[in-house]
Amino acid sequence: MRTPIIAGNWKMNNTIKEALELIEEIKIQNLNENVEAVVCTPFTALKDVKEAIKGTDIKLGAQNMHWEESGAYTGEISPMMLKEIGVDYCIIGHSERRQYFNETDETVNKKIKSALETGFLPIVCVGETLEEREAGKAEEIVKAQVINAFKDIPGNKIADIVIAYEPIWAIGTGKTASSSDADDMCGFIRKTIGEIYSENEKEIIRIQYGGSVKPSNVKELMEKSNIDGALVGGASLKGTDFVKLINF
Ligand code: PEP
Repeated sequence: MRTPIIAGNWKMNNTIKEALELIEEIKIQNLNENVEAVVCTPFTALKDVKEAIKGTDIKLGAQNMHWEESGAYTGEISPMMLKEIGVDYCIIGHSERRQYFNETDETVNKKIKSALETGFLPIVCVGETLEEREAGKAEEIVKAQVINAFKDIPGNKIADIVIAYEPIWAIGTGKTASSSDADDMCGFIRKTIGEIYSENEKEIIRIQYGGSVKPSNVKELMEKSNIDGALVGGASLKGTDFVKLINF
């Protein structure tokens, strides 16, 4: 049984004060205990949000990290720094980081290994552009991203990794992949994991869909057999909507 996971990616939104207001709104609601709820806040709010969610089942995630433990990398945050705060997850290789900050499959692979070694779980983002989809290359692109991301990662780590399939054309655009297209691509990613590892890892790996997920479409997506959760941007910034997503 794969535990469903709904993760909110707040991106570069919310000061500490706003983050605490949002988390208060979420935590006072009854949240489905069978769903793992994660909030991925900006670095600056991690420590305060960690304090605020104490005693709840809400998990904490960062949105990025460097792979080295320390060093001359001005402006970067190390996995040890995140571990010290007590993060449970870190988003790795989000398309915005690939697009605007030159993140590559190689750095994604290094970051996944580093997160696992440090002791928290990576949420690894993959997904194709509209151009790639229209050229019939979605599977080829996503397969290469998965193979490169998982290079030299042993099969016994698969239970500690979440993949987020996020077609870039559906992020923040209001366009959602149809639930059957999303399920097909998540199934294709699952099959790829089965090819890299074995049937066991194929069944274990948790795969989220991301791209304009909102209260009105979450149920249909979550009913699909290959979709184990959602990575959510816009709708995670409104407490009432995020709670609806967790309680789909
Ligand atoms: C995201 O940022 O990962 C995302 C899926 O954003 P949105 O839900 O706003 O499309």
